[in-house]
Amino acid sequence: MIARVQPLTRTRAVRGPFDYAVPEAMAAEVAVGALLRVPFSGRKVPGVVVELAAGSELAPERLATPERVLNAGLTPELVALARWMAREYCSTTARALALMLPPGAADGRGAKRALVATLTADGAAVLGDPGGAGHLNHPSRGFDAQRAGGRALTDAQRALLQQLAARGGTATAAELGTEALRRLERRGLVQIAPRIVPRRPANLVVGRADALAPPLTPDQRAAADALLAVLHAPAARRREEFLLQGVTGSGKTEVYLAAVQAALDLGRTAIVLVPEIALTPQALGRFQARFGDVVAVLHSALSAGERHDEWMRLRCGEARVCVGPRSAVLAPLEDIGLIVVDEEHESSYKHEGDPRYDARGVARRRAREHDALLVFGSATPRPETVTEMRRLSLPHRVDGRAMPPVEVLDMRGSHQPLHPETRMALADLRHGGGKAILLLNRRGWSNFLSCRSCGHVWLCPNCELALVLHAARSSGALRGHVACHHCGHREPVPGRCPECASVSVARHGAGTERIEHELREALGSAGFPVFRLDAGATGLEVRARTLQAFERAPAGLLVGTQMVAKGHDFPDVSLGVVLDADQTLRFPDFRAEERTFSLVTQLAGRIGRPGGDGRPGAGASRVLVQTLAPDARPLRFAAEHDADGFIADELIRRRALAYPPYASLIRVVCAAESEAPAREAAEAIHARLVHGEALLLGPAPLFRLRGRHRTQIVVKARERRPAIDAVGAAVDAVGPAAARAGVSVSVDVDPQ
Ligand code: ADP
Ligand code: ZN
Ligand code: ZN
Repeated sequence: MIARVQPLTRTRAVRGPFDYAVPEAMAAEVAVGALLRVPFSGRKVPGVVVELAAGSELAPERLATPERVLNAGLTPELVALARWMAREYCSTTARALALMLPPGAADGRGAKRALVATLTADGAAVLGDPGGAGHLNHPSRGFDAQRAGGRALTDAQRALLQQLAARGGTATAAELGTEALRRLERRGLVQIAPRIVPRRPANLVVGRADALAPPLTPDQRAAADALLAVLHAPAARRREEFLLQGVTGSGKTEVYLAAVQAALDLGRTAIVLVPEIALTPQALGRFQARFGDVVAVLHSALSAGERHDEWMRLRCGEARVCVGPRSAVLAPLEDIGLIVVDEEHESSYKHEGDPRYDARGVARRRAREHDALLVFGSATPRPETVTEMRRLSLPHRVDGRAMPPVEVLDMRGSHQPLHPETRMALADLRHGGGKAILLLNRRGWSNFLSCRSCGHVWLCPNCELALVLHAARSSGALRGHVACHHCGHREPVPGRCPECASVSVARHGAGTERIEHELREALGSAGFPVFRLDAGATGLEVRARTLQAFERAPAGLLVGTQMVAKGHDFPDVSLGVVLDADQTLRFPDFRAEERTFSLVTQLAGRIGRPGGDGRPGAGASRVLVQTLAPDARPLRFAAEHDADGFIADELIRRRALAYPPYASLIRVVCAAESEAPAREAAEAIHARLVHGEALLLGPAPLFRLRGRHRTQIVVKARERRPAIDAVGAAVDAVGPAAARAGVSVSVDVDPQ
């Protein structure tokens, strides 16, 4: 038998697959998707079997033999998916396959084995834990003495058994003390054996999670019934794509849960994608509370061991629901009945490494391959989703609360970070003891630093991006550092201008740190705490703790970047403030308006205190949006809560400007240590594309990033497939020479 193996190498130049002769003894283990260790150009590398064949074009003596079969194989469907991803996103099969494997699999590292102690039936009986009615009338003392060979258990031994019982009857021996457990083993009370110990991720639940499904509202019922009808339909009619549109709190998650339940009842599996790591704990908590261990989680905040083991649980069918951010779309599940993409408008569904896949695109493709139902959900769907999918809507919040009024505040001519209206609202809130969320899409203390004498701006030496001031407060004085938010470069706060030696340094713009500081100075007190949450250095646990603290506090403020407006559901926040809507509005991207509309609407969806709406005074809920562009289209539509109006208007604009969904964009970036080779490679690619159908923008220089000069070409094409193929061919043709000149070429289909 011949196995066609794709070695997992990073280089674009190695294409594969390559033929290997499978020895008789190994044949039973080698199938499409199997992970092998194979000799390849003088080394041993991991590789995935992408095809099996009876014979090879190579002479038998030229065929190498795989060294061994590793234990984390893929399914044939994932192999096909990897090949599709390579083509769809102008990458290589090897890179796509590498994304699908669990960490460590390729080095043959695998499950963790350890000695595990298990309570035996006798052990349980000693504790007086019946385990079955038969033991109920056993006086535990008498039983004890019998088992103990005449000797009673010591208190310590009894306590040890109790600890084991408290852990559900099993624990690693090391955890409780192997020596002591061995003595109990000799008395038949526990059993000790080497076993695979699954490293289960800790359950970081933020907020409440109910195990029981509430009765659905009529709107939810209607939406769920439409989904269930498709799930129960014959295979050919199951390939439906739905958009579930509903504001935050309209009960979308309950509808997903109902659909997941139906898929599980049908013996099938499900994937639920959520936008960001920071949001996973809450979503995960709800799914685990409802379905228990059948839910696995895959995300990058887990340790490599945990991810490996969760992956294995999915692969072997022990877990049948995978919840996680974009990479969960590659979960090794079979017979998928349902794929849900929650908050489908989120840009985090786009992967920024190669292959630059879009989890929404991969979800669609996988759903089609499995005859699975696809459900996208959002309060602010992308215009393209609205045009492509069947829409179900949840027009009202479950609790019947109205959406809070959204007021746009004109910041032109103001030099303060807070509008007087915002100040007043915060003061009222403090007085009345309420909660507010304040959004600012800028981390750090101030936006950038400049010299007051000559105008010099401090930039990252690698990236040509402004350095952001971060403050560390120590005994009242401000110390700290400046940092590049792109590459992480840090330096001390400058005291003197390198151009003109002036010591007068101006700080521009307020970041989350400064706002937090100012609010704390102005309003903070023991009864009115100010919390900050942003995507800085803080890890998942710190964020989860901050969110918990804010949720528990009876009153206070939460300041943060836009992530605070996403996913978390706090029951009693009555004021929302967007401190600088211009930050997203001015972003040079055709999605800037869509993002601004979405940001304001998402925030509004999280505001509203039960019973507080509609009443005048401090109890009323509201959203304040500070901006220099009070007439901007997305703000006007957001203020009217008019998502449909915004989308219709946006589609007209997109059609006129030939943006998605009316055209596809492909971005090619050539990067090198120096400027000329990057530009030359881009010109060579441009020359190969110039006679095609597509419109070409560039080559245009971009600002330097991580010390590399970059030149970009943007391809705008009405016909997607031929354009992707043409770009792929041009990059392949130019690639080898470019690589020799030290140029890396990256292709981004549907860039964000
Ligand atoms: P969304 O996903 O649209 O934001 P959720 O499904 O999270 O909405 O629902 C918002 C809140 O309402 C949650 O606390 C949820 O437990 C609750 N909820 C949802 N559906 C119902 C229902 N049918 N009956 C009672 N409570 C519900
Ligand atoms: Zn200067
Ligand atoms: Zn940098």
